[in-house]
Amino acid sequence: MSADCLFCKIAAKKIPSKIVYEDDEVFAFEDIGPQAPTHILICPRKHFGSLNEAGLEDQAVLGKLQLIAAQLARKRNLLAGYRTVLNSGEAAGQSVFHLHLHLLGGRAFRWPPG
Ligand code: 5GP
Ligand code: ZN
Repeated sequence: MSADCLFCKIAAKKIPSKIVYEDDEVFAFEDIGPQAPTHILICPRKHFGSLNEAGLEDQAVLGKLQLIAAQLARKRNLLAGYRTVLNSGEAAGQSVFHLHLHLLGGRAFRWPPG
């Protein structure tokens, strides 16, 4: 846990959120400013400021984020189309520096993303 990290505080339930999945490695909660009818953030409990701080030894938990996203997408009947997004660095739109995967679904998406 990183003392000043918003998502570490959410994981520890020091800040309220709508948790939709959790286990000993991963937690997932509803985004406070949803950009689609479904907008969930899926995080490792281990604090990584961004993908740049992860290494090959973290491949299992990073892969698990995607698989939990697919599980949540199935649960919400989104299998016709959903998007997972991981913003790395300010220039890519990262605003919270605890690695998180966005799961977005329930509307059509354009490509390329903005
Ligand atoms: P990023 O821009 O870093 O890829 O994504 C950060 C996301 O965290 C944004 O979509 C933003 O709406 C969400 N967010 C920021 N603060 C909070 C919060 O306190 N609670 C929840 N549930 N989501 C938050
Ligand atoms: Zn953190």
